[in-house]
Amino acid sequence: MLRSLFRAAAGSSRLERLVESAPVSKDVVRRFIAGRSAEEALVASRALVDDGLVVSLDLLGEDTRTIEQAVTARDDYLGALGRVRDAGLSSVVEVSVKLSALGQRIDEKLAYEHARAICAAAEEAGTAVTLDAEEHGSTDATLETLLELRKDFPATGAVLQAYLRRTEGDCRELSAAGSRVRLCKGSYAEPESVAFQSSLDVDKSFVRCLNILMSGEGYPMVATHDARLIAIAEDRARWFDRSTGEFEFQLMYGVRPEEQTRLAAGGNTVRVYLPYGEHWYAYLVRRLADRPANVGFAARAMTSKK
Ligand SMILES: Cc1cc2nc3c(=O)[nH]c(=O)nc-3n(C[C@H](O)[C@H](O)[C@H](O)COP(=O)(O)OP(=O)(O)OC[C@H]3O[C@@H](n4cnc5c(N)ncnc54)[C@H](O)[C@@H]3O)c2cc1C
Repeated sequence: MLRSLFRAAAGSSRLERLVESAPVSKDVVRRFIAGRSAEEALVASRALVDDGLVVSLDLLGEDTRTIEQAVTARDDYLGALGRVRDAGLSSVVEVSVKLSALGQRIDEKLAYEHARAICAAAEEAGTAVTLDAEEHGSTDATLETLLELRKDFPATGAVLQAYLRRTEGDCRELSAAGSRVRLCKGSYAEPESVAFQSSLDVDKSFVRCLNILMSGEGYPMVATHDARLIAIAEDRARWFDRSTGEFEFQLMYGVRPEEQTRLAAGGNTVRVYLPYGEHWYAYLVRRLADRPANVGFAARAMTSKK
């Protein structure tokens, strides 16, 4: 219930104005967000890489409503990729991209062209792009864009959300050789007609999807902080005889950092999803929704004098 309320709040512009104008302590934002600029994000990336982790940079911003904003988002990604290359981090830092930030809701073709430019820059820099998954209404368009992009940029990664009833089928479609697929639970408020509602049903779907991806020919990217699902993924990797270079774990910046280092110390590839930028509101609210205990942390920080 609380989780659904928070997920709905992520889309409320009235609440966004309220939170942004509140004396929000920097601590709340800093825990989950690496900074406002690409420069700060690269400093945080370097620290994670020094700890044996790899990174996916996420420039915050979504649901862009004007062409100008979409062009700015594309250019910001191009700039960030140039910095990644110049810093010599291309082998350990990729980028995650939301098509809605690139203009998907204005014009799907425009978003595709922007994503194509980012994929080309990523390839030139020696790294790759993963297309984030958003609300279920955009799933078909995002997967179609993915298939088009993969014709020229086969390393482009997909994200599938275990809470969607359709996702087992999508996992089958995307489990071929060379296919990079991030499996996550899913973070948006979705109706029962398209998504499992109980945690148990979502977890069961996650395991079914994991079985398909781990037994397939592609490269599974297991994106969860859930200790039980991480243990099941480790078990499936052993069962399907995947070495540590044949799949990876992904966790979010600031969430269970001790688990990130534990998994990496065990020889696993562990990618940290590292968000940065000015537009942190919707992302932050979704992280609070992931774990209601975070609400107490946020409330304390927001009312502190710092
Ligand atoms: C790398 C990565 C990329 C993602 N990309 C997408 C995407 O493209 N599209 C999309 O819809 N969703 C995405 N998600 C979000 C995902 O769908 C979930 O909303 C989120 O990961 C919480 O689910 P969970 O699997 O961690 O399980 P949960 O059941 O939410 O959490 C399991 C346990 O993990 C810990 N935990 C989880 N979240 C937090 C937190 N914020 N703070 C502190 N502890 C926490 C708690 O101990 C909790 O009990 C991504 C997640 C990750 C890790």
